[in-house]
Amino acid sequence: MPPATSDSAALERLPSDIRVHVVGAGPVGLLLTALLQSLEGVSVRLYEKRREYTRTRMVTLAPYLVADSVESYGADAIDGDSVGAIFDPPELEQGLAFRQSMPADLSAMLKSWALGFCPLNSIERSLSDLIDARERNGVQRAGAVMTVEDAMAMLQPGDVLIDSTGSRSLLRDHLVPASSAEGEGANTLKVRLEYVIVITFLYGQKYDCNEYCKYAKNIENPHYKFIPMVHRTHYDGSVSHVTGIVNISADEYEAMPTRFDSKWLRDNFPGVAESMDRFIGKIKEETEGEILGELEIVRIPLDLYRARNATSRQWLAAGSNGHPFAATPVFLAGDSAIGSPYFQSISLGFECAMYLAGLIAQRELPVEEMLDRYELYSYKQWLRVYMRSKTIKHNKDLFESLDDPLAMLEKLHIY
Ligand SMILES: Cc1cc2nc3c(=O)[nH]c(=O)nc-3n(C[C@H](O)[C@H](O)[C@H](O)COP(=O)(O)OP(=O)(O)OC[C@H]3O[C@@H](n4cnc5c(N)ncnc54)[C@H](O)[C@@H]3O)c2cc1C
Repeated sequence: MPPATSDSAALERLPSDIRVHVVGAGPVGLLLTALLQSLEGVSVRLYEKRREYTRTRMVTLAPYLVADSVESYGADAIDGDSVGAIFDPPELEQGLAFRQSMPADLSAMLKSWALGFCPLNSIERSLSDLIDARERNGVQRAGAVMTVEDAMAMLQPGDVLIDSTGSRSLLRDHLVPASSAEGEGANTLKVRLEYVIVITFLYGQKYDCNEYCKYAKNIENPHYKFIPMVHRTHYDGSVSHVTGIVNISADEYEAMPTRFDSKWLRDNFPGVAESMDRFIGKIKEETEGEILGELEIVRIPLDLYRARNATSRQWLAAGSNGHPFAATPVFLAGDSAIGSPYFQSISLGFECAMYLAGLIAQRELPVEEMLDRYELYSYKQWLRVYMRSKTIKHNKDLFESLDDPLAMLEKLHIY
């Protein structure tokens, strides 16, 4: 039985002075903290288990994150139309207005990250330093691994709890009341798109790729096409950071270790390695450069997932039953709530974080409505990313059949 709060009556409205617990200080938890820190009457407790920010992978943020008009928000080759279909113009305008009211220090950071590539840990460090440096601090930090029990036990009446602990969310599967439904997967919808190996390397020349180049360099690869990220190849003036994926079967995935090098791949999966080497060989021919250091290879399933409930709305609806989540608004943010492959999740998490901070700022809103609005917004973001990811996956499937018209026709559904 979970511990009961001292007052387990559901909150009707947030009090004028509130304490927000943010569990997980990755990019999304940090942005949320920085946004909440600027609000009157809000104090934040930020919990993080890592001691240092060490993730150096290069990430890119979506331009819509810093859009200044409804038109530029929807200007995306893949899902611009979906944005128009899913969101109503006043909704988008409200989001833009929130962006424009953001503190200047934060807004300048977002704009600089959206210009190009940035190491993940430099986003994390900049946000973390900004929070610490602000005059009105209002943020208490705790370095600890939070458990579900800890999270429940620390809640006082009037608190808000935000779980931004990433894809293995601490609380996602605890947001549904039926005790039989609690447990792994109880509140998670998962769509497995495919299994891939992700190959990253540094290259000593400028190199970029588009769809034509992907095709030309894969002509002799009937299977295991090497697919580098378009517009995701970062050149820092002397070195290109290249990332590519190769689709593999579920059996191949099972037979691989989590992480390995190119020698292991050549020894154990020569067919996959040949395709990769052929592609890289063509890059070298074209640009006369060399790989710097070793290739890094990881195998991952590409999953698209969402929390069916991104808040504690179900607990609140179940009425006063002694469970702490029946009395406390709980929200999932970032990878905790929605995850998508093909690398766009930070922007999605930042979008939801801005929306959530905007809701918490409206202290006159009934809590129930706050939860409903957040659920609806998360659902719309989910629809958008679901459609986007399925389109990318479908395009990728077609690309992989380009040399086999019959296989390609089987994948087309026209009328
Ligand atoms: C190879 C690769 C490339 C990527 N490239 C991009 C890209 O270009 N663009 C993009 O948008 N996204 C990209 N992503 C995805 C992106 O990294 C994630 O979407 C993002 O990190 C999610 O942020 P988050 O804050 O929600 O969660 P996380 O970054 O996972 O942060 C969660 C935090 O919570 C902490 N935590 C977890 N559990 C607990 C606990 N019990 N107690 C205390 N603390 C806890 C963790 O230590 C961590 O700091 C990429 C991912 C990968 C793997």
